[in-house]
Amino acid sequence: MKVLTLGNELLRQKSLPVEEVNDEIKALIEEMFITMEAENGVGLAAPQVGKLLRLFVIEADDGIKRTFINPQITGMSTETCHLEEGCLSIPKLYEEIERPVKVSIQALNEHGKPFVLDADGFLARIIQHEYDHLEGIMYIDRGDPEFKEKAIETIARREKRRLEKDALKQARAAKIASKKAGN
Ligand SMILES: [Zn+2]
Repeated sequence: MKVLTLGNELLRQKSLPVEEVNDEIKALIEEMFITMEAENGVGLAAPQVGKLLRLFVIEADDGIKRTFINPQITGMSTETCHLEEGCLSIPKLYEEIERPVKVSIQALNEHGKPFVLDADGFLARIIQHEYDHLEGIMYIDRGDPEFKEKAIETIARREKRRLEKDALKQARAAKIASKKAGN
């Protein structure tokens, strides 16, 4: 699956609840894990692959694959900490963000079974980051406004370069094709 990057409007929309954990949803979860691993990510939310569903997957440093469907954050510590965050939708940029140290969450797992989890450290951080995606919030919204501006510009510049390269490639291919047609 292709991971959408900053600037894509879908990343800024609120996702809708999953109505039923059926085969289609299970297949999506599997594909999301494959995509996350291929991109060397630790978390991936459905809107990042263009599905506006309240669902995300995580594989933190404990190596456990976790799926959160229709998650609800039920508690947060008042204590906060700064940790560096990155996002597959904002490639190769990182920024320290302040968030609560601990978080409690309830959700359905990949089998549709409810569970509750009290997380802290890295896991709590990923959960909060991925949960934000379901609300259309990106981590750059929570940090230094200057960094946010820089990130938006950087990703837009990269996207423009990519489009220019593609156009050039297409023009070359068209030239070759017309030459061949001439012969
Ligand atoms: Zn992200």
